[in-house]
Amino acid sequence: MAESWQGWRCFKCKEELTEQSVQFSYLGLSRPTKGPRCPKCSAVFVSDELGKKLRNIEEQIEDK
Ligand SMILES: [Zn+2]
Repeated sequence: MAESWQGWRCFKCKEELTEQSVQFSYLGLSRPTKGPRCPKCSAVFVSDELGKKLRNIEEQIEDK
């Protein structure tokens, strides 16, 4: 499955983004997830897929 961010490049260093595990913090909770990240400056980019995952996490938290 091709993710929409494939082929994206970091705005700053023009490095191609790679999928890495990123720590996402929401409401003081830290969840590991997979997302596009610049291998050079470690900037994390929020793709559509990552945005959906984050919304799922949000819903899980609100259910509790
Ligand atoms: Zn970069």
